[in-house]
Parts: sequence; C-alpha cells; structure tokens
Amino acid sequence: MQDTLKHRGLRNQLADLLTTKGISQVKVLNAIRSIPRHLFIDSSFEGHAYQDKAFPIGAEQTISQPYTVAFQTELLALEKGAKILEIGTGSGYQTAVLLHFKAVVYTIERQLELFKKTKIFFNKMGYRPKKVIFGDGYKGLPDEAPFDAIIVTAGAPEVPKALLSQLKIGGRLVIPVGVDDQIMTLLIRKSSAEFERKEFGSFRFVPLLEDKN
Ligand code: SAH
Repeated sequence: MQDTLKHRGLRNQLADLLTTKGISQVKVLNAIRSIPRHLFIDSSFEGHAYQDKAFPIGAEQTISQPYTVAFQTELLALEKGAKILEIGTGSGYQTAVLLHFKAVVYTIERQLELFKKTKIFFNKMGYRPKKVIFGDGYKGLPDEAPFDAIIVTAGAPEVPKALLSQLKIGGRLVIPVGVDDQIMTLLIRKSSAEFERKEFGSFRFVPLLEDKN
C-alpha cells in the first residue's frame, strides 16, 4: 500500500471533522493531516481509515478512534522533546502522533503478536520510538522514570499507583478510568504527594490488563 494524494485529501477532511468536534491544537491537527493511518490497519479496512472510527487490529484489540487519539494528545500538553511513556502500543498510530511532537517515546505492549508486528512496522516506516517494550505497562517503566507525560490507551479499572509515582513534578498522566466505559482522566503532579485531577467525557476502550505474576 502507498500513501497517495487521495489519502492526503481524506486526512485533511478528517482533521476538519476533528476541528468541528472541538480539537484545536494545531500540532495535533497537523499530526492527523500527515500520518498515513491507512497503513496502520489491515488493508481490508483501508477504505474506512479516515473515518472517525476505531477498528480491529488483531488479538482482540483496536486502533483508537482518531478523535480519541487527538483528545488524549491535547491533554498531554506536550512540549518538544518531552519524555513520554505510552501504555498500549497497539497499531502504533498513537505512537506516531507522539513522535510528531519530536517526543522521546517509550511504548509498552503486552500482546506479543501485536508487539512484534508493530515493532517491524515502525522499522519499515522509519518511526523511531526510543524503546518499544514487550511487557505489562500496569507497572509503568521504573527504570526510565520519571516522565513528562504518561498516556494509557486502554481502559483502567483504577489509576495504577506505579504510574503516578513515575511522573515528574508538573508531569501529566492521561488515562481512561472505568470498567464498561471510561471517564477520560488527567492527573497533574503538583508535588511529590499532590495530584490535581480533572475529568472529561466518557469513552470506550479495550481493557488495560494486569499481569498478576
Ligand atoms: N494506541 C493504540 C491502542 C491500542 S488498544 C492504537 O491506537 O492502536 C490498547 C492496547 O493496550 C492493546 O494493544 C492492548 O494489548 C494493550 N494493553 C492492554 N493492557 C496492557 C498492559 N497492561 N500493558 C501494555 N499494554 C496493554
């Protein structure tokens, strides 16, 4: 598959649609305009790649809806060069959006199949996260902490404490919290023990699974 003028036109339309839905950060919209989402999904869905929808990506997982990706990215309030932890690599689309911000991205996926597939895809496409890790993101990534921002792209029954402790002061955690559907939640670390919590609309994610052993 290739990226064509037609795909670019569809991306511009998608960015316009996201604007009408309330996405306003120019850099986020530019990421939507430039990243070839149709290459992140199975070719059988290619015709739908620029609709504002989630799709299956195998292993019972989904690529998040573009609006959700844009919304979460806005909440991260990224600055150039930010050090970010992403939990739930999935198709890698959200990772590519983060890389568009010239961010230093560590990304974790717990499904081996998806991890392998997406790692190969990143290489092929020239996307360069700092590390692509196979493992349980519930525990965060203590060896590389602290982070300017942490984004969780699966629904968490509650906010994992490990993630809060791995934020820099001033750092932001964006996480959908809930079981059947989720409230998008932003936690900003104010001091070592204080966090400001803000809640946004309701979303639907596949579950964040914890490896108990
Ligand atoms: N950002 C991805 C979203 C994929 S769906 C995209 O846009 O394509 C969420 C992903 O989180 C799934 O791939 C799922 O396997 C992964 N996941 C669930 N629990 C996890 C955990 N504890 N650690 C790491 N990844 C997890």
